[in-house]
Order: sequence, then structure tokens, then C-alpha cells
Amino acid sequence: MLEAMRRIIQEVNSAKNLDHALNLIVSRVKQVIKTDVCSVYLCDTPNQQIVLMATDGLQPSAVGKVRLNLTEGLIGLVTSRAEPVNLANAQSHPQFKFLPDTGEENYSGFLCVPIVHHRTVLGVISVQQVEVRTFKEDELTLLVTIAAQLAGAIAHAEAVGDINGLHQGIRHNELDRPIKGLSGSAGVAIGCSIVVYPPADLEAVPVRKTDKPETEVKVFLKAIKATKKELTDLKERVTHLPEEDQALFAAYLLMLESKTLVSKTLERIHQGYWASSALKDTVLEHINLFSSMEDDYLRERAQDIRDLGRRILMHIQSGSKGAKTYHKQTILVGHEVTAADLMDVPESKLVGLVSSTGSGSSHVAILARALGVPAVMGAIDLPINQLDSKTLVVDGYQGNIYIEPSPRVMEEFSQIIQEENELSAELRVLKSLPSITPDGVHIPLFVNSGLLSDLPASQNSGAEGIGLYRTEFPFMTRDRFPSEDEQCKIYRQILKSFEPNPVTLRTLDIGGDKNLAYFPISEENPFLGWRGIRISLDHPDIFITQLKAMMLASDGLDNLNILLPMITSVTEVHESLKYIHKVHEELIEDGYKNICMPKVGAMIEVPSAVYQIDRIVKLVDFVSIGTNDLVQYILAVDRNNSNVADLYDNLHPSVIQAVKQIIQSASKNNVSVSVCGEMAGDPACALLLLGMGADMLSMSVVSLLKIKWVIRSFSYAHAKQLLEEVELLEDGVSVRKHLNDALSEAGLGGLIRPGKR
Ligand code: PEP
Ligand code: MG
Repeated sequence: MLEAMRRIIQEVNSAKNLDHALNLIVSRVKQVIKTDVCSVYLCDTPNQQIVLMATDGLQPSAVGKVRLNLTEGLIGLVTSRAEPVNLANAQSHPQFKFLPDTGEENYSGFLCVPIVHHRTVLGVISVQQVEVRTFKEDELTLLVTIAAQLAGAIAHAEAVGDINGLHQGIRHNELDRPIKGLSGSAGVAIGCSIVVYPPADLEAVPVRKTDKPETEVKVFLKAIKATKKELTDLKERVTHLPEEDQALFAAYLLMLESKTLVSKTLERIHQGYWASSALKDTVLEHINLFSSMEDDYLRERAQDIRDLGRRILMHIQSGSKGAKTYHKQTILVGHEVTAADLMDVPESKLVGLVSSTGSGSSHVAILARALGVPAVMGAIDLPINQLDSKTLVVDGYQGNIYIEPSPRVMEEFSQIIQEENELSAELRVLKSLPSITPDGVHIPLFVNSGLLSDLPASQNSGAEGIGLYRTEFPFMTRDRFPSEDEQCKIYRQILKSFEPNPVTLRTLDIGGDKNLAYFPISEENPFLGWRGIRISLDHPDIFITQLKAMMLASDGLDNLNILLPMITSVTEVHESLKYIHKVHEELIEDGYKNICMPKVGAMIEVPSAVYQIDRIVKLVDFVSIGTNDLVQYILAVDRNNSNVADLYDNLHPSVIQAVKQIIQSASKNNVSVSVCGEMAGDPACALLLLGMGADMLSMSVVSLLKIKWVIRSFSYAHAKQLLEEVELLEDGVSVRKHLNDALSEAGLGGLIRPGKR
């Protein structure tokens, strides 16, 4: 059964569309379970029906026609209960309903399991048998496993409108089901997608149509010729290898001569597909054929075909190189969009970014924030290969992507874009005004930065300094550790750009999701692993070099603050301080008389540091609350996992209590406290932070004027009262609503964005 399951899943994973996948499933499951019927029904939610979409055993003509209400019959029972039903004699069940249109016989044995995706039942898979029988445990497991595998594929297909005949009378785009990801950069964008993908990766090639098949034919034939030459040369060069290995190249050449590979691809090009996707479909078809063979030797050949396919693809790609063309309003889409991909698009044309991997702390997301480009990251369900040249709405607030949305959604988001533009124009007047509450409390606003290219925007934002400079980015963009001198130059530029205002440089915070290619850390659980200060303390060589570079950069400036990430104990603070003092003393001894001792702060972003806050504040000059990590560690919600993104809540009552405790302890000890996580840039959260008595807030440039508006509109006393009110509430949703109501009442409703309502 296990082997059968593996095969079915493999076949289904490479099916060319959902229809194909469903038909494969029903016929394979029927064979494996040796039953009389296997069928798949899918939910047509807008019409409140469940529809027969594929069957092996019932009348094929009933497909798409048999529609039941969502609670009707045994199929409805499984759908509404969202749990399997296994009956020896279905007909004796009170909810049994005979479906004459399906050509149903007197089936007794009945097993049906729901297909569930993110808590929603998308449909069911059922098997039926004439004989009275209860299906066995492993047969149930087979169906449950296949249903789980199928769920994602159905969600994909729904998102791109690839399920023919399911939603009766409703056009696909009227469904408006967003694909969920994580917010990478706040804001909303509407544009046309361009899929970026790594070279020579067959699976990554998007489906793309061409209106110039003749050109594509030429490109393809040229690539075949080049591949033949490459293989012939290789074959001649490897005569020293055993004959068996040499034979591989001869086999490749034979495959290249074979009619099927070449002519099938040409056929697809003539149907209107560009050479790369025509080749991809042909090669994947061959791979599937070989992968499903019983014979081990033949099954292994699938790898050879893949390799050959990649070689041809590489030649197609190098033959069709040229200046890339971008839409006027380009939204970059990819499995892993890189910073280089982003930089490649002319700034005037780039409006949005979507990546199926990564998170808000990915390099490319930071860059998007610096450029003010809305981004959604970690959208794992994104059907990337089918997303080329599609109209997309990117909701960077909520982390949602709408594919080919309805006029209603387009209208709603166009309105938001317009409102945002108007709001930005209005807020611009605040740039030169102080960040002071109506009752006279000054809350300086700082920016978070990580790239030198951020600097002009940061300097131009009205910020009073840099509250968090993530030093890991210069490390991530190199292929080796940057030298002391290289680091020093970067830090000096940053310190000078805000001088005499303070600039907080955070020591290296790698590990977690921020890895250096040249310092790989492979761990089962990286966020609980070797990261931040733990690495620095274990590698005094790296730590001392960085501290020295920071202090040398501050020579004669006196605006350097050093911030220590991921502090989990008092011991780590003591040890770090020892290094900092030592480096400073040595520099003074070396004659650098104008290097002041920097202020040193601890990031409070781990619950253990919250519980030891009274001790920590006595050791440092300031603390900075890293709410991005604090929230993930308090709530046990991975900040980079879109499956649990809904549970990640800055306003969870436990988070509020933790942040309040930190601020109170710092204030009591006269230590300045800032907030530098995303919470600081969220208007509702900023209101609470004001009420708690935070001394300063640090955020991405795009949020700065919005938060200044909040500060200038709410007195400290009012914010304090709001804090007391929300402390009586039991969940984050109620807290957000209460704060949003307060924003609206004060005339700041324009700051409340979708998903934050
Ligand atoms: C945080 O954790 O809140 C923070 C500001 O740091 P980072 O997002 O870089 O982990
Ligand atoms: Mg952090």
C-alpha cells in the first residue's frame, strides 16, 4: 500500500492540471483498493453545493452535472462534519441518498474522506463497493493521505481559475480567494506579474505563450544543435572513463535524435508556447513515464532525461538572452526572488513583489521596504509556474495576493492606493514637525535600516536617528566575512549620515533565518539554535573585529550605540560588555583618543530576558524591544511560517503584558527604552507603546510619518487610558478593534488598513 501511495502521489504531483490529477487519482485509487467506484467531489462554495468532478465507476457524463447541497446525502455528511465516514452498508444509513444520474448501482461499502485546506473543506474523495464491507485501516489511510496531498493543488487551481465547471454561473475571478503569505513590506500594489526563476531549472519555467512560434522554433533547434555539440565534445573528452559511463553520453545523443523529444516539443511550440515551456512539458512527460515504470533500471532513466532537459534549457536560455522587458507596473513573482532580481527592474516600473519563500526579514523584503515597494513573502501555495503576465493585487499589509481579481476587488484596492497616495501627500507636512504629543511628551522617531541604499530615504524621512541598523546585511551580500576595514567604512558612512544624532548599530544577528553562504549553519530548529549573540560570543574573532570596526568608525563622532541581539541571560550581557570594554581600552591605548565609549544596549526579544529585565537594565545604557522575535517566542509562532501567520499577533494580551513589563522596569531604573520591532510602525500598537511610556520608536521609513501623526494626535494621558482599557480584554482581535475605534474617533481612520480593521 505504501509503495502504491508513493506512486500515486508522484504521478499526481506531476499532473499537468487539476483535471488530469483528479482523473489519475480516481483510477489509481480504484485499482489499488480494488473497489467498484472512486470519485472526487469538490465544493462550489458560492453556490453552496458539492459537485462530482471526477469518477471511475460512475457515469462519466455525470461529471460536473451531479450537484448536491453541502449537507445532502452521505457526501454532504462528510463535507459538513469534516471527518471520514466508513460504512459497510451505506444504504441503511439515514442520510443515504440515491443518485440516479450517476448510474449508481446498489453500492453498499462506502468510504469517504474530506479534503481540507487551512480549516476549509474543499471537497471529498469517496470509494464505493457493491459488496457489503467496511474498508480497512490502510485503505482509509491511503485516502486521507491523498486528500491531504490534493488539498494544496485544489487551492492552487482555484486561485488561478483552473477548475473547469465547478462554480456554476460564477466567473473564476468573482471568487476572489487570496493566496496567503506573510507581510514583507507594507502597502498595496496592483500590476502585472513577471515570473523570475533560476536558470536551467526545468520545474521553475513558467507557462508562457508566444505569438512568434517561428522564432521559438529557431531558438529551440539552435539549442538542440548546441546540446549535441556539447555532448559530442564531452563524449570525446571522457574516453578515460569506464565504458559503461561513456555510454551515457551516447544514450543522451540518441535521445536527442529521437523523434519524440524534438517533435513533441516542436508540436507544443506550434500550439503557441515558447520554447522553454514547450520543452519543459515534453521533458516532464517523459520523466513521469519513466518514473512510473516498475523496472528499477528504467525508473532511474528519468534522471538522465531530466539532466538532458536541463542542458537543452540552458542553451535555450543563453540563446535568447537580451534586455528583459518589464511591464509598466511590474510585480515580480518567484520561488525565491533575489535582491539582484529586484534591482534589475527599473525603479519606475516596479510596484510589487511576491515570493513563495522567505519572510519579512529576508534581504529582499528589507530592500523592498527601503524602496517602499509592497511585498508578500512566504506564499507557499503560490502557483508560480502559472503566474506569468497575470493581473495581481499585492496586499502587503495582510500578506495576501489576489490573482486576476474581480472588478470589485480591483476597485477596493485601487481605492486604497488612492487613499494612501493622498495620505502620504498630506503627511509630508509633518516631516519637519516635532514628534510631540498634545500634552508635551517627546517621542523621538527613528528608522530601521540595513542597507547603504536606505540611507538617503532615511535621512529624508524626518527621523531623529537610526534606531536599528542590522549589520548582517553587509555580511550577507559578500562571499566572505567583510574585513575590519570594509566594515569600518560602511559603519562610518552610516554614523556620519545622522551625526550628531544617535545611530544604533546592532552586532551581527545571523542564524535563525539569516544565513551566510560562507558560514553555513544547518540546524533542525534554527530559531532556537545558534544565532545572534550566541555566535558572537562563541566566535570572539568575528565579534572583536566587528566591535573594533564600529568603534574605529565612530572616531571623533560620539553618536554610536551598540545593540546586542538575542540576549537570553545576564551572563551574555556581562560577557559582551567585557569584550566591548576591552576593545575600547585597547583602541585608547593604541592612541585613538577621540573614540568615546559607545552606549551599549540589549535587545529584549526573548521571554527569558523579560523575566530578568530588572537585572539586565542595571547593566546597560538602554534596551530595545525586538517585538518581531519577542512575539514569535512568546506565542510559539514561527514568524516565517505562513501556515501559522494568523496566530502571529502583536496585540496578543500576553505580548502586551511582556512589553509593558520591560518598559516599566527600564523606566524605574532610568534606562531608556525603545521599540524597534514592527510593532513600533503599526499605528494601533504605537498608541499602546505611547501609553506604556516607551521613550522612542524605531521603524521602517514608510511608517514614520504615520506614527508621527499618531503621536501628535493622542495625548500621553489618553494613550495611557486606552492601555488600561485594552488590558481588560481577552484577545488580540478585541484589542485591535478597540484601538482602531480610538484611531477612527480621533480622525485617523485613514491609518487603518485591510486586515487591521
Ligand atoms: C526584532 O526581532 O523585533 C527585530 C527588530 O530584529 P529582527 O527583525 O532583525 O530579528
Ligand atoms: Mg530579532
